[in-house]
Amino acid sequence: MAPRPDAAERFAPGAQFVAGRLVPGTSGRTQTVTDPATGAEVLRYEPAGPADVDAAVAAAAAAQPGWGAATPGERSEALYRLAGLIAERAQEFAYAESLQCGKPVRLSTGFDVPGTVDNAAFFAGAARLPEGKAAGEYSADHTSAIRREPVGVVGSIAPWNYPLQMAAWKVLPAVAAGNAIVLKPSELTPLTSLMFADAAVDAGIPAGVVNVVCGTGPDAGEHLVSHPDVAMTSFTGSTAVGRRVAALAATAGAGVKRLHLELGGKAPFVVFDDADLEAAVHGAVAGALINTGQDCTAATRAYVQRPLYDAFTDGVAALMARVRLGDPFDPATDLGPLVSYAQRDRVAAFVDRARAAGARVVTGGRAPDLKGAYYEPTLVTGAAQDSEIVRSEVFGPVLAVLPFDTDDEGIALANDTPYGLAASAWSRDAYRTARAAREIRAGCVWLNDHIPIISEMPHGGYRASGFGKDMSAYSFEEYTQIKHVMQDITGTARKEWHRTVFTL
Ligand code: NAD
Repeated sequence: MAPRPDAAERFAPGAQFVAGRLVPGTSGRTQTVTDPATGAEVLRYEPAGPADVDAAVAAAAAAQPGWGAATPGERSEALYRLAGLIAERAQEFAYAESLQCGKPVRLSTGFDVPGTVDNAAFFAGAARLPEGKAAGEYSADHTSAIRREPVGVVGSIAPWNYPLQMAAWKVLPAVAAGNAIVLKPSELTPLTSLMFADAAVDAGIPAGVVNVVCGTGPDAGEHLVSHPDVAMTSFTGSTAVGRRVAALAATAGAGVKRLHLELGGKAPFVVFDDADLEAAVHGAVAGALINTGQDCTAATRAYVQRPLYDAFTDGVAALMARVRLGDPFDPATDLGPLVSYAQRDRVAAFVDRARAAGARVVTGGRAPDLKGAYYEPTLVTGAAQDSEIVRSEVFGPVLAVLPFDTDDEGIALANDTPYGLAASAWSRDAYRTARAAREIRAGCVWLNDHIPIISEMPHGGYRASGFGKDMSAYSFEEYTQIKHVMQDITGTARKEWHRTVFTL
């Protein structure tokens, strides 16, 4: 069994990271971090209130001009050092992530931490490649050039499901592009975001460039979004809160803020009748259960063409039954608890309502007899397309399976959702997969796989899943603003175009 870290000792100075050091919050409230596998309190801290957000924004505003003036090469070097430091501290990061989220150490060690290291290395490279059109004479009388400039101070808000990777996805492109940032992680999972900011300073990123305020949405989040000195809001979380954030960003202060929204998902998993059944079954179970189903791209609605439907559901039920729930710190554990008892109860209520509405719970559908916030891997069949379990984001280890007959119907069912974050299609026929890739409305369509992400490629949604991309060069670009510089090259006082205003 891997040892649980001592968060109370690590964060004794406080759980806010402002101007390069840990400090306590000043909201006068109390917030706890709980180990969801045991229910034990692992940290009690004073969360951020508006004054802490003000201090963090002031630190960012003071640090940004200097950091923005650093050369791409200097920023790149610091980000490479950050990648190296996180790799050196991999175990510390992985165990802290497992402690606060209940993720199996196999997942945090094998996915969350290496993904973060790779992202840091990617943005170290991206920092040196600001893209734009070639400078040139697009009008005969002028030279035009593009400057790609930092936005200024970015305010970012992140959810609890992948706290370390979310911190990386928010901080790295912003900082690579020369911005300073104030990140607000979920109040439930602040530990690894604070450690990330600490590592950034150790890597040589100047104090104040990366700040972390840990507090609730209403207390700290809204103040950060509304702050007049924050030029851009980048938000990842639920669609409901995203709408509130968008409204605040549009009306706060003097200007309209740049906005980046990564919201909820309800990913379809479309299995055509010529699919490799074993691959589809394995892909569905892994895709539905990753991170205990608390993944915005998780497979949640499997549509299976009628000839494969029975074999697929039998296969998924059998594989789900093999998944071992247990202590996240036991390397043999496959699946950890949900992030909190509240989330576990929310998931259980979704399944109970589906059952009451006539759906069949083939396997799972209950909280096991374990102390933590566990819920069994659950397969639901017989739910209607317009039922809650098929339409709403459950965010737990639950997969609903529905049959379809024609290819047209399968694609139409996949698109019958307000969301559009991710989807997958399973077939051995290149024309069928090509059609699915073209016609499914989502920011990512996997063909014969579901879940993998990669630093070079963008992650982000269509429709109610938001707009803006995380990871990749597209994300780097979002944290820059483009300036067109147009210079007269004729030296003439009287220009032909003046005739449109007065006679020359
Ligand atoms: P949430 O929307 O409840 O909270 C997200 C963050 O917003 C938290 O830090 C929270 O404190 C903050 N917040 C809450 N109310 C706020 C307010 N009024 N103003 C400002 N900030 C506020 O989401 P969650 O429950 O933490 O996370 C799960 C959700 O995140 C799911 O919907 C999931 O799909 C989504 N998610 C999306 C992506 C993506 O890339 N699209 C990635 C991960 C998670």
